[in-house]
Order: sequence, then structure tokens, then C-alpha cells
Amino acid sequence: MRCLITGGAGFIGSHLAEALLARGDTVTALDNLSTGTRENVRHLEGNPRFRFVVGDVLDPETVAALMSRCDVVFHLAAAVGVKRIIDHPLASIQNNLRGTEVVLEQADRFGKKVLLASTSEVYGKNGHGPLHEDSDRVIGSTTITRWLYATTKACDEFMALAYHRERKLPVVIVRFFNTVGPRQTGQYGMVVPRFVQQALLGEPITIYGDGKQTRCFTDVADTVRCVVALADNPRAEGRVFNIGNGREISIEELARQVIAITRSSSPIVYIPYEEAYEAGFEDMRRRVPNTDRLRETIGFAPGIPFEQTLRRIISHFELTLPAPVAPAVGEDVLPPRLHPEAALAAVG
Ligand code: UDP
Repeated sequence: MRCLITGGAGFIGSHLAEALLARGDTVTALDNLSTGTRENVRHLEGNPRFRFVVGDVLDPETVAALMSRCDVVFHLAAAVGVKRIIDHPLASIQNNLRGTEVVLEQADRFGKKVLLASTSEVYGKNGHGPLHEDSDRVIGSTTITRWLYATTKACDEFMALAYHRERKLPVVIVRFFNTVGPRQTGQYGMVVPRFVQQALLGEPITIYGDGKQTRCFTDVADTVRCVVALADNPRAEGRVFNIGNGREISIEELARQVIAITRSSSPIVYIPYEEAYEAGFEDMRRRVPNTDRLRETIGFAPGIPFEQTLRRIISHFELTLPAPVAPAVGEDVLPPRLHPEAALAAVG
């Protein structure tokens, strides 16, 4: 298959490119390098079935040229990360709304299948039990910038579903639940890479709020496997799917686990949301996926144990971060990165 990945140099896009190439597909990655990086796809560039194009989904001509030469488009290009959305609201709206509009228009023009990446953020503050694809969305005020992400992605979903209903365009919508893995950067606020980096550098681990909020972190390898299976499955067309691991972990627990595995001496600090993000910021207490529909359609759902994922992320950062400074002669020498609390946590 000839695949086009928008946002192909991003964290998830680059893993998807890898998986598609591994099974023999041809991949064109389109990326404007706003949050994606060339580094993410450098290892693929020698592959004759891989092509990297620097360009923007906001440019219909670029999208049209690439769309005409593919069989399926994986639309992953979007403004990502709560922090980035809050810092750049206007560009985020434009990218998420206009970008998706261009991709859908061109896919419709050339009759190509679209897999649209959406997010568990669309459920907003609905903190009830496992969330089903048809669960209510509970979204806060427009004065709270965070909600523009959920709102614009929900509009993208409406657009894709409308193209399916009225124009018979084959579309599949996937809602990612906190995808994590190697190459994800903490730069845009994501908690796992931030904590790992802080722990390895011996910096304070920054828990926002009380740390009792939970998330279901999903290994990018699981996410990609589900995306590929859904794109291949005609029964997925015109439908929405949660892609997430069912295992829930609190942010406090995450901090402790990161400290224990890295044997870090980092202290944990609690930062109020208003300070971390903006005044009036609202967080979700929990966000758990119901993956029954996914299982019924493709026969499996994400299940890689989080600790395994976390260890891979830590190894990735250990290779890319500068080594911690060695203690000066005469200083107390603890075993590498071992903090008394972390030692207890590791034992317990
Ligand atoms: N978070 C945190 N410290 C950080 C970054 C994030 O405690 O340095 C919290 C954040 O407030 C949220 C959770 O971790 O409750 C997950 O945040 P992330 O931005 O990774 O994903 P999302 O909020 O979209 O689930």
C-alpha cells in the first residue's frame, strides 16, 4: 500500500512510518517540523520506500500532490500537548480545523481512505468509569484555553463523519489515550517524558495539582498496531475507536515509579495548576478507555505493561541525555541516583 502520513516526523507518526515500512508499504511522511523533527525519521531515510516531505497540511497544493499518489492517508498532523495549545491557541485552532478540512477535501477529491487521529481529550471532564466511544463529552468554558483542543478535535471528527455520511468517503476515527514511548518529548508538557528527564537530570519532579489524578498510558507500539489493523479493516469505516491501555495509574504513582527505576535523587514538588498552566485551568481526574469496540473489530487492544514501556522510555533518554554530574570528592556518595525514598519504593 502507498501510505501518506501527515505529521509523519512526529512522535506517533514516525513510529507508524516504521511499522508500515516494516510490512512492505511505501510511506510518504509530510511534516512542517513545528513539533516533529527530522531526527525522528533519520533512521528511515535510507529506505527506498520512504520519502520525507517538508510541508504543511494548510497548503492544499502540497496535500493534493501527495494525496493523488497514495492509497490511504493517516492524518496525524495537529497541534499537540496541553502546554503548547495554551501557549499557541490561534495556530492550534488553525492547524486542527483548517488542516483537517484540507486533508478531507483532498481525500474526497481523489477518493482516498482517511484515518483521522483524534484524542481522548474529546471526552473532556467526563470522569465516569471506562469511557465508551458514545459517552458524553463534558467540556468547560471557552475562556479556558485547554478546551479548544477537545473542541477542535471534536469538530474534526464531525467533519470526517459528515464526509463519510454524505460523500461515502471511507474514514476511520481513532481516539488516542495518552500515547507514550521513545522519541516523545517533554517539551510540549507530556508528563511521562518530563518526569523521566527530570529524574535522570536530578531535577525536581513536578507534579501538577495533588497528583491523585490518573491516566492510562498506552505504549506507542500498541497504538500503532491498532491503527494499522483498523486502517486495513473495512468494518472500521465510518466509526470511532478508543485506542488505550486499560491500566490506570495516578500521577503520584508515576513519579514514584520513575524515581525508583532511574534510582534518581530528584525530590518531588507539587505545583498548583494555575502556576503550571493558566488561571482557571481544569484537569480531568481520570480518563479510562473502554476498548470493547476495538476488540470486537480487530480482535485485540493495547496491553503492553506500563512498566515495560517506562523502562524503554528511560533507556531511550539515557542514550540521549547528558550524563549526570559526578559527586565531588568528599561528598556523600549514594549508589547511582539512589534517593532514600526511592529506595524504599523500589523495595516496597
Ligand atoms: N502533569 C504533571 N506534571 C507535569 C506534566 C503534566 O503532573 O510536569 C500532569 C497533568 O496535569 C495531567 C497529567 O500529568 O494531570 C497528564 O498530563 P499530559 O499533559 O501528559 O496529558 P493529558 O493532560 O493530555 O492527559
